[in-house]
Amino acid sequence: MEQNFDTKTVHLSQNKSKTISSKVTPIYQTSSFKFTDLEDLENFYQGKNDYLYTRVGNPNTDELGSAVSQLEGAPDGIATSSGLSAILAGILSVAKQGDHILASADIYGGTYHLLAYELKDFGIDVEFVDFSKIDLIEQKIRSNTTLLYSESITNPLLRVENLNKIVKTGEKYQLFTMIDNTFATPYLCRPFQSGIDLIVHSATKYIGGHSDVTAGVLVGREDLIQKARTKVINLGSNLSPFEAWLACRGLKTLSVRMERQSKNAQLLADALTNHPAVKKVYYPKSFSSKGKGAIVSIDITGLCDINVFFKSLKWIKIVPTLAGVETTVSYPLSTSHRALPPETQEKLNITEGLVRISVGIEDADDIIVSLKDALEKAYRG
Ligand SMILES: *Cc1c(COP(=O)(O)O)cnc(C)c1O
Repeated sequence: MEQNFDTKTVHLSQNKSKTISSKVTPIYQTSSFKFTDLEDLENFYQGKNDYLYTRVGNPNTDELGSAVSQLEGAPDGIATSSGLSAILAGILSVAKQGDHILASADIYGGTYHLLAYELKDFGIDVEFVDFSKIDLIEQKIRSNTTLLYSESITNPLLRVENLNKIVKTGEKYQLFTMIDNTFATPYLCRPFQSGIDLIVHSATKYIGGHSDVTAGVLVGREDLIQKARTKVINLGSNLSPFEAWLACRGLKTLSVRMERQSKNAQLLADALTNHPAVKKVYYPKSFSSKGKGAIVSIDITGLCDINVFFKSLKWIKIVPTLAGVETTVSYPLSTSHRALPPETQEKLNITEGLVRISVGIEDADDIIVSLKDALEKAYRG
């Protein structure tokens, strides 16, 4: 019997072809997958069939997790709804109620919030310590400590973490180790190769690279990723297929973006060093032979009017994020680090003059001229 119009309307638009071979992965914008019969359905549970329901797994999100894990040289990876949900999934794969975590004091503000306040409600105790003094970490290890957590390049003051020391300490006391590699990206740093167990990315930043997607990726040891995958499924923190597809598209140009952006950042850091309006330039002294990352932070002197500086930036946008192809600036004190207690802000040098610059792919001279102009307008010295 021929279907009626209302039925046809629903079913005609469905692709029945198995022979279309598109050059790039299509977007599997579907909440579920279909099965021919009960045997076919049983095949999923037997592991012979990949997909059931998008919260449980989807080709686009799998592609992103797998791509980043391969770039990091890790055996497995998963994509999640945001950088923070990837951090949560990673932590819950190694820590439970009653456990204790040692985290670096100078981490991303959102991560601080998650660790200091939300994990506490889960009964997980997090202590923030100065990871630049590794001996102090050893003194803080307790019998219920399970994890050492830090960032490969810290935000916003760009301290380079000593991954080898973290791995050695982890091995000595049988602790898991986890590193946020967002600022460095696998182009510049692969913590898994140094022996770190779990590596997390806010794919919202350089992995996506175009400021049009919020996503996270967690890669690392196979047993831990398997546990984290279960957490993501049960907590519902999966990434949507379209966001995964966008992040994968961005990822293809990671190398060329990081190469140009790191080069521009070095030129900018050099140009602002010894500038009369700049008290201090934060940029790593050494990192990778391929570059030192694309974030430069500057502490502007009290002789500058910070409001005039931000108003005079012309084409450089003020945004509370980083890592897009355009040069942008942010003000950590009132955005990413606003959640920190004032005494912690002061201890971490998150001052009133601190500006974080995310250097883009534009012509380096244009970036330098624009920032120097804004500094000149703001300077009252
Ligand atoms: C942005 C960021 C995060 C959080 O990522 P979201 O995608 O916003 O959840 C975590 N760590 C670092 C270093 C970041 O820059």
